[in-house]
Amino acid sequence: MMKKQTKAIHFDYQQRDPYGALSMPVYNALAYEFDNADVMADSFCGRNDLPDYSRVTNPTVIYFERKVRELTGARDVIAFNSGMAAICATLMGIAGAGRRIVTSTHLFGNTYLLMAKTLGRFGVKTEFVDLLDLEAVERALEGDDVCCLFLEIITNPQMEVADIPALAAIARRRGVPVVADTTMIPFPEFNAGALGVDIEIVSSTKYISGGGAALGGLVIDYGTVDGFDTLMRRELLLNLGSYMTPQVAYMMNLGLENLNARYRLQSANAMAVATRLAADPRIKVCYPGLPDNPFHAICRDSFGGSFSAMLTFELPTEEACYRFINALKMVKRATNLFDNRTLAIHPASTIFGPLTADERRAMDVSDRLIRLSVGLEDPDDVVADLDQAITAALAN
Ligand SMILES: *Cc1c(COP(=O)(O)O)cnc(C)c1O
Repeated sequence: MMKKQTKAIHFDYQQRDPYGALSMPVYNALAYEFDNADVMADSFCGRNDLPDYSRVTNPTVIYFERKVRELTGARDVIAFNSGMAAICATLMGIAGAGRRIVTSTHLFGNTYLLMAKTLGRFGVKTEFVDLLDLEAVERALEGDDVCCLFLEIITNPQMEVADIPALAAIARRRGVPVVADTTMIPFPEFNAGALGVDIEIVSSTKYISGGGAALGGLVIDYGTVDGFDTLMRRELLLNLGSYMTPQVAYMMNLGLENLNARYRLQSANAMAVATRLAADPRIKVCYPGLPDNPFHAICRDSFGGSFSAMLTFELPTEEACYRFINALKMVKRATNLFDNRTLAIHPASTIFGPLTADERRAMDVSDRLIRLSVGLEDPDDVVADLDQAITAALAN
């Protein structure tokens, strides 16, 4: 049996390329020709897996999907044109009018708005609970109307790590599927299915694409929710039109081939930066890789021993946060996570800026918080820039 990293490189194409091309060709075709009416009918009705139209199937995208399936052991993997498209399609498959999603009070901003606003308009209810309070989760999962427990493995920017084995055990007792957004740690680092996740969602925009190269999303279906794969492949892909495009699948596949090497360096850099910032008495750092972090053990034991490349720290005031952001010289003022460059953002005024102050408070988004996504630079240079910006922030 080949190891994951070897499989990420040596996964056979569905058909040998006539020229022996080593990289998967980009099939920019929209439609595909058939030998006869029977084969054509079989393709359109899902009785063979020949491609018919690239909104639904495309050889380049299928290659990427199959490679992810091989790396995860999932039943099926579907690639979408963004992480949000993957989340939206999944919830449209699993929720419905009158049904209730149980999820965390700490959610990615657009996931929160998708549930609270967009799906709410279609009659889907969402209950936001504190996932650290297992009794509250147990109570929220009571009732026949619950359609899933939705969680994120490390919340952003609160840095709360989900205890998936404990949460999945409660959900399983109630017969409720667990849907987990695992974007924060690359999926090959751990086995979400073995932790008790039924459907895994990844924004492949982040680690997988490699340096912020393209938008994409993955739905990784472990085969435990009845009818889900058929609904996704035979209905939602066709009707929502948010399938990944072949050029993007090509870039995602390249990113996946060198993901392991990048993530080793990126997570080690994050650890180095967090350790050095933690020694600075002027700020308060939060990173699950630090031994005194309350989530250190659960993060280490669940996700393969690494701790992501995102960290946060607190400055005394919101004004100091603005001064810090303005004083940065090398670190980029930008959203996105897991770019090759180190990125810094003040979440309260940007990603969560459109929310009301009450909503931000309910989600524990502090206005004194800075979020960092540590890149592939030498950590000495990252720390030097952060250090001078912290000094500038505290000068006034
Ligand atoms: C970025 C992100 C998303 C959304 O992904 P896009 O590819 O930007 O649509 C969803 N969940 C998490 C945790 C993210 O970080």
